Amino acid sequence: MTQPIQTIKGTKDILPEDVPRWRSVERAAESLLERYGYRELRTPIYEATDLFARGIGESTDIVGKEMFSFDDRGGRHVTLRPENTAGVVRAYIQHKLYTRPLPQKFWYLGPMFRAENVQAGRQRQFHQLGVECLGSDDPRWDAEVMVLAVEFFRALGLDATYRIELNSVGCAICRPAYRTLLQDYLRTVQSSLCRDCCERTERNPLRVLDCKVSVCRETLLSAPLINACWCDACRKALEQVCAYLNAVGVTYQMNPGLVRGLDYYTRTVFELVASGGRLGAQSTVCAGGRYDGLVAELGGPATPAVGWALGLERLLMLLEHETHLPSPQAVVVSMPGISFEPAFSLTMQLRGLGLSVEMAPAGKLERQLKHAERLGARFAVLLGEDELAAEQVVLKDLAARTQQRCSIQANDLLAVMQTARGE
Ligand code: ATP
Ligand code: MG
Repeated sequence: MTQPIQTIKGTKDILPEDVPRWRSVERAAESLLERYGYRELRTPIYEATDLFARGIGESTDIVGKEMFSFDDRGGRHVTLRPENTAGVVRAYIQHKLYTRPLPQKFWYLGPMFRAENVQAGRQRQFHQLGVECLGSDDPRWDAEVMVLAVEFFRALGLDATYRIELNSVGCAICRPAYRTLLQDYLRTVQSSLCRDCCERTERNPLRVLDCKVSVCRETLLSAPLINACWCDACRKALEQVCAYLNAVGVTYQMNPGLVRGLDYYTRTVFELVASGGRLGAQSTVCAGGRYDGLVAELGGPATPAVGWALGLERLLMLLEHETHLPSPQAVVVSMPGISFEPAFSLTMQLRGLGLSVEMAPAGKLERQLKHAERLGARFAVLLGEDELAAEQVVLKDLAARTQQRCSIQANDLLAVMQTARGE
């Protein structure tokens, strides 16, 4: 026998019983985001490799070792998107969306791809919901996107499941001084860092702060912190973000060791981290910040921006596990030996009236009724020779275990079912 083909490592099927949970999260996101003035932007799931190399940074883990890249049939270097900020910015520049009233606010939801070590909460194809607000450096937008994440968690009943960590990674004026300070420190502790971090010390020292290896985490406890280096403008901007958050009662913790693995972040960075070990090692659900340098880096006009991305798999792990497969309201059953056409036609008519109706597979009457029960249907609609001659059906209420003869007219039948259900 041939071996059945399975999903590729790090990818998952979302089965019909799980889809309602995804849908409810997606619907909650859409209604909230639209209310805040964010508009959905759908970009392709693969782009020129160069977009990510420039937009995320050559020295990051994502570009360095996590991208699914290949040459297409025309020899172009392309990559399955590992994240979508670069794609949104590309679209913003390509379609000159900066000529519209600023800031322009977008959201997206879709699959992302990273060649990662697969673990709980870490897949190779995963889904992100993200927001981007482009065109203003006013801290009110930093605060708005953070409040948006908080409101999203609240809408899903996830109020007490996480904490917010906040920091500023400075700007082009103050970060170089910190980079040097940190690099000097890291060079003195090379023997207590993992191999990757020894390399990062030279290429991207801030990234060391983001390392998950325990020996590095310990070594970093005595590393210099960025708050000593913030310039006045960065300090003021952060104070203003905090003031807005305080004004609406959002609580957060300052974490001066928080950085992002991506090069384009400036000033505000934040994460929503699951508390109480709910998600094990993969505890960051939502991560974001300001990226004032990215639009210009990708060839657009200098445009400050802020946004976040949220991992939907991790978010769903926080939600109660309740799987649920919807049942049809009625199943149409046709007596063996008679033409199925009237049953087919009645099914379509009932569906046309908004009812969820299924057809039983051909077979013995008992088997057809069993099928209706297994589907969880409330009613079975039986069509037999005598009934058809009288333009009637037998309506079986599978819950009440009663049955009655009714007109075969779809409208009449619907009314009887509604009455039986107390509607
Ligand atoms: P991590 O430190 O966990 O690798 P990251 O810094 O690479 O995360 P971002 O690029 O900021 O993550 O992505 C934002 C969010 O997307 C993460 O907080 C997480 O919820 C989700 N995410 C990122 N990578 C994965 C993955 N491989 N599988 C599932 N979710 C992911
Ligand atoms: Mg990662």
